[in-house]
Amino acid sequence: MIKNKDAQIIVIGAGTAGLTAASELQKMGKSVLVLEARDRLGGRIFSQKIAGKVYDLGASWIHGIENNPIWSIVQQNQIETAVFNYNESIYYHDSGQRFNPIQRNIFEKSLDYLLTQFKTINQTEHYSHALEALETWLNGTKFQEFIKSQFQLGQAEQLKLHKMLLDFFKGLAEDPCASDLEHLSAEFWKNEGFYAGDEVVFPQGYIQIVEALSKDITVLTNKVVQRIDYTKELIQIFTEKGECFTASQIVITVPLGVLKKQQIQFIPSLPQQKKQVIQKLGYGVFNKLFVHFDQAFWQSSEGNLVNSINIHNGQRWLNFLDMSRIYQQPILLFLFGGVSATWTEKLSSHEIWQQIEPSLKLIFNDIPEPIQMFKTEWGTDRFAEGSFSYQAIGQTADDIEILKEPILGKLFFAGEHLAQFGAGTVHGAYTSGLDTVKLML
Ligand SMILES: Cc1cc2nc3c(=O)[nH]c(=O)nc-3n(C[C@H](O)[C@H](O)[C@H](O)COP(=O)(O)OP(=O)(O)OC[C@H]3O[C@@H](n4cnc5c(N)ncnc54)[C@H](O)[C@@H]3O)c2cc1C
Repeated sequence: MIKNKDAQIIVIGAGTAGLTAASELQKMGKSVLVLEARDRLGGRIFSQKIAGKVYDLGASWIHGIENNPIWSIVQQNQIETAVFNYNESIYYHDSGQRFNPIQRNIFEKSLDYLLTQFKTINQTEHYSHALEALETWLNGTKFQEFIKSQFQLGQAEQLKLHKMLLDFFKGLAEDPCASDLEHLSAEFWKNEGFYAGDEVVFPQGYIQIVEALSKDITVLTNKVVQRIDYTKELIQIFTEKGECFTASQIVITVPLGVLKKQQIQFIPSLPQQKKQVIQKLGYGVFNKLFVHFDQAFWQSSEGNLVNSINIHNGQRWLNFLDMSRIYQQPILLFLFGGVSATWTEKLSSHEIWQQIEPSLKLIFNDIPEPIQMFKTEWGTDRFAEGSFSYQAIGQTADDIEILKEPILGKLFFAGEHLAQFGAGTVHGAYTSGLDTVKLML
């Protein structure tokens, strides 16, 4: 039975942004209460124990440890991590042949060239669509000259390279953007917001970061906020069970997907400009499929001891990660973003496996039946309504500022989608929590 339903400040949502804000406010001597819809803390950080191992079904990576505030939390709390860099990867053609060193060099140099174009894109170029920009560069004379200056390629080889590069960027739009290239802003890679340095994962779960952030914070779980009435001096917050909490100020950290679905009713309604921005910002689906085998068949051929394997099946790239080193078990992780992620939610794990196995068969003989599979379904998760935000076509930094703008000095907003650096990440959610507290002072 909750006795006290009042606090100076109520934070809605016990994910990274909410817990960070609550912890900072409490350190300043404020009385803070966090209301969380789920029966657990962490939101889109979700570490689950399955058959004795901890799997991260939400965030897994610290994207670059140099100057990353999440890395500081790791160090302060002596949390175990393991380096797992994506770029340790190998590539295969649809013929099943692995790229030889020359082919790999051509492919990687071309990728770097195009990524540099994206990262240095300037306003005079007037590209807003990532796909449009990519097609223009691929077909432009600058790229042709770059290729000519570096390599000797016949016309057929050049066409194949174009197709593989275009498909690779389609894959990149899925992961890390949870989008499709058609919907992504050309400025995405410029504003990606990853830190430099190694990428690391947590063998015992990302949840340890949540545990560190939530020390001494009062969080009430199973409190699904349904209505926020800020007409009077004290804000009233109603849950779907009819409970009413009151506070002078509130911090709303529910995911952008929840705001898009208008799951929470605001009285009075949110300003029109904010409502437009909520619909405009990109927010996508990104899902994981863990496949557990009794042996690491992919490591049998020499040199396959890498983190990431990419197979071009002629139509698209299939990318998967070898997680055996992290889980001490033969486990592959397949990642799906955008349309593919929505597709995976409609199928069983077995049906997905049936669809992706032919691409693996291009390379590996005698693939054994998986002994266990499990997948995530963030798109249909009621308290996430998707996975994370991305920069949609036409979206600018000003849009984020509009959404962040407090209302009447009473309603404040935080969450990964409001980070100017690192939107879509845990470090983005963390810095957004801190930034919002500064607005409250
Ligand atoms: C599959 C997947 C993989 C990812 N991989 C990475 C990665 O490797 N590295 C990385 O940095 N980031 C990754 N991310 C993104 C990262 O997890 C998020 O950016 C970050 O955790 C978001 O934190 P947040 O506090 O903004 O939101 P959340 O963590 O979603 O917190 C919001 C909270 O609000 C609660 N809530 C929702 N509705 C209500 C309501 N009506 N009433 C009360 N509470 C409510 C939710 O339950 C949730 O706990 C991944 C995300 C997903 C889904």
